[in-house]
Amino acid sequence: MKGKLLIFSAPSGAGKSTIVQHLMKLKLGLAFSISATSRIPREGEQDGREYHFITPEEFRRKIKEEAFIEWEEVYPEQYYGTLYSEVERIWKQGDHAIFDIDVVGGMNLKKKFGDMACAIFIQPPSHEVLEQRLRSRGTDDEASLQKRLGKALTEIEYASRFDHIIVNDSLETALAEAEKIAKNFLAR
Ligand code: ADP
Ligand code: 5GP
Repeated sequence: MKGKLLIFSAPSGAGKSTIVQHLMKLKLGLAFSISATSRIPREGEQDGREYHFITPEEFRRKIKEEAFIEWEEVYPEQYYGTLYSEVERIWKQGDHAIFDIDVVGGMNLKKKFGDMACAIFIQPPSHEVLEQRLRSRGTDDEASLQKRLGKALTEIEYASRFDHIIVNDSLETALAEAEKIAKNFLAR
């Protein structure tokens, strides 16, 4: 059995997790694709829930074994990737997979799965608002924050290649838009 792929991509801090968490609560038959990463867990994150946390060595070993559908060294020594086994697990249980993934990874999945995938870009209202949100989220130190803000400038340029763009200004409006897109896509 093959399900669909609902992909959310955006610069860090644009609101992907918030939107994905909301959709997961709606009982649309969506299961979160748990990526593997070599970054350190943040406070409150659990192995096997937000991510499969593995070492950079283990990550590189899995790359060699061709265990990933796609992977990126999103930041130096910080790898992120989608495991074949994860998507297979979700489809086997009869669900569709929902992704919170970086912009290049999102495009790669879309290229690979075509019409089975819907790729949505979450756009922050401005660079200044993105910085405010990242700061108030409080999960990144200054160096990590600057790394994310720097990367955001190039990521924004990919927006027009996605199937849909949602500007996350009012959260309520963004959630409603995401819900509508998801329902239409899954009903197709
Ligand atoms: P991402 O997953 O893209 O990195 P998050 O979902 O963690 O982003 O959102 C970053 C921060 O911004 C979080 O603290 C979140 O609660 C907040 N946030 C998300 N959307 C909005 C919004 N529309 N207005 C204000 N704050 C928001
Ligand atoms: P964070 O460290 O904030 O959890 O994630 C950093 C970035 O990596 C985010 O843009 C997130 O969406 C992205 N990311 C998470 N999982 C994957 C994945 O499996 N593949 C790719 N390419 N990026 C991912």
